[in-house]
Amino acid sequence: MEQELSGRASVRRIAEVLDLSDDDVLRALGGGWRLTEDPLLSSYSGGWFVTGEPMQVLLGVGGSTLTLARVGLRWGGPGTVSMHTTEEREYAHEDVLYQPELLGEAVEELARKTRRTFRWCRTCRTVNRPEDMQDRLNCMACASEYGGAVN
Ligand SMILES: [Zn+2]
Repeated sequence: MEQELSGRASVRRIAEVLDLSDDDVLRALGGGWRLTEDPLLSSYSGGWFVTGEPMQVLLGVGGSTLTLARVGLRWGGPGTVSMHTTEEREYAHEDVLYQPELLGEAVEELARKTRRTFRWCRTCRTVNRPEDMQDRLNCMACASEYGGAVN
């Protein structure tokens, strides 16, 4: 079992898989990536990384290609949520090197689109993904923490 991979270690891993330098990866894709091991994500030799809090953009890396996508979540049952990709965009490993601004814009656009779906919880005053909201005003954590007391 691997340690949770995030921060600089994630950037290093992505760079290794794509056979590029850390700086190339940072310039094109930025930081904040953490390794995710959701079995429902289609297999990619280098794995899938996710960025943003709450989660906004997914990055899949293989040797010669990479995929950027928005994060989709689906409830599989009580307390079980699975991740999938939407709006996938595939790039070649050279794009990281020669078109960093293209990738940077794609990450920003996907993140922006996802952020537009986020909701505000009036009880704990945090931003949440729509899947994590119990109703229009309260997140699920608050609904279970405070029960019927929240309106
Ligand atoms: Zn809340």
